[in-house]
Amino acid sequence: MAQTSPLKFAQSQPDHARAGAIMALNGMFDDMDALGVLRHAVTELLPADLAIVSSFGADSVVLLHIVAQVDRALPVYFLETGKHFVETLAYVETLKETLGLSNVVALRPDPRDIARFDPDGTLWETDPDSCCHIRKTEPLDATVSGFGGWVTGRKRFQTTERGVLPHFELTSDDRIKVNPLAYFSDADITTYKLKYGLPEHPLYNMGYKSIGCAPCTSVVAEGEDPRAGRWRGLNKKECGIHFDFNGAIAKPMAAQELNLYKDGKFIADPFRAWAEGDDPGSVRYTHIPLPVFLANREAVLANPHPVGLLVSPGDNVELVRDDLGRFASVAINFPGFTDGRGYSSARLIAERYGYQGELRAVGDVLADQVPLMARCGITTFLVRHEPTKKALADGKLATVDLFYQPVGKTEVPVGTRPFLRRAVEKV
Ligand code: SF4
Repeated sequence: MAQTSPLKFAQSQPDHARAGAIMALNGMFDDMDALGVLRHAVTELLPADLAIVSSFGADSVVLLHIVAQVDRALPVYFLETGKHFVETLAYVETLKETLGLSNVVALRPDPRDIARFDPDGTLWETDPDSCCHIRKTEPLDATVSGFGGWVTGRKRFQTTERGVLPHFELTSDDRIKVNPLAYFSDADITTYKLKYGLPEHPLYNMGYKSIGCAPCTSVVAEGEDPRAGRWRGLNKKECGIHFDFNGAIAKPMAAQELNLYKDGKFIADPFRAWAEGDDPGSVRYTHIPLPVFLANREAVLANPHPVGLLVSPGDNVELVRDDLGRFASVAINFPGFTDGRGYSSARLIAERYGYQGELRAVGDVLADQVPLMARCGITTFLVRHEPTKKALADGKLATVDLFYQPVGKTEVPVGTRPFLRRAVEKV
C-alpha cells in the first residue's frame, strides 16, 4: 500500500513545518530503494506534477530505466545545449527506443540569449558559469517552474559537495527535488547496468566517466573522481541547475561588458542595479537597497530568486545582520573617493557578522582604494574606471604597508616595532 507523504500535511504550512516534513519523508524513505522513492514521488507526493531531468550522460540510463518502470510517459527533459557530443545525441535516440520513453523533450537555449551573449560560441572558454546559465539554467527554470518538483540523477559518491544528498530536498522556491539514486555507489551503477543489460553511452568505455557538453568534458584517469573530467582546470563543479540562493549561478546581463573583477579576472556582472518600480518580491539578480529591504522584508525573504543587498553610506547594517545569509551578494556603495563609511560597513559584515557570500565594492572604485577595500573583506569589485581596470588586469596595484587603523590579526599600527608590520596580500 502506498505510504502517505508527510509533506501533504505540511502544504500551505510555514517553511519550518515543510522543512520538518521533508526530514520526516527522508526518514521514512531512508531504506527505500530507488524505484520505491520514485514511485512514491510520482504517485503520492506530486502526481502529474513532476518532471524528470536527464543529461543522457554516462549513468543516466539507470534513472531512465527506473522511470520507465514507473511510467514511460513521464516527461523527461534533456538540456540540448547545442554543445553536446554527437554520441550523446545518438544515445538519446537509443534510450528512447530501448526504454520506450514516449515523452522526451529537448530544452534549448533562447536564440536571443545566444545571439547576445555567445554569438561566436566561445563563452564556455571565458565565462563557463554564464554559458551554463544561458544554455542550461534559464531553459530549465522556465520549464520546471510549471512543476511542483523534479527528479535528478545525482548521487552522493560523485563529489564531496554531494556527499550528504538526501532522497528529497525542499528548494528555496518551494519545489521538491527527488534524488532516487542518492545512495547509489559507483559499483551499484555498474551492477545495475549489467543486471538489466542496459546500453552504455558510446563514450563511456573510452574513459569518459561523467559526460556533459563536449568542450567541458575530458577523459578521467583511473582512480580519479568520476567528475574530475568536467570543467577540468576550472574552479567549477556544477553547471548551476542544482544551485540555490548563495550558490547562485551568474545570469549574464551584459556579457559584452566585463566590469566585474572576481577571482582574479574580469567577468560579466550577473547583477543589475535596482530601478524604480522594481518589485522586491520578484526581482532577480538585483541588489535591493537596504531601506527597500527593510520596508519589504517579508516579500524579499519570500522571493525565490537570487538577489543581493545594496548598502550605502548612512545605512545601519546592524538591522540586517540576521538576514544577510539570504543574499547571494552584498554590494557596498562607495559614492565618492573621500567617503570612507563603506569600509566600516564592509568590516562589520565580513568580520563581525561572518557573512560568507560575495562582498563587492560598487561606485567610485579606483586602483588606490582596491587594496584598502580588500583589507576590509571585499572580494569583488565593479570597476568602470579604465585605468583601474588596467591596473587590476595587469596585477599592478599598490600594496599597503603602514596601518593607521589595523584590521584582522596580522596588522599592527604605525609606530609599533617594524618587524611586526606586515603587508597585506596583494589582491
Ligand atoms: S557545460 Fe560548458 S559548453 Fe555546456 S553550457 Fe556549461 S560551459 Fe557551456
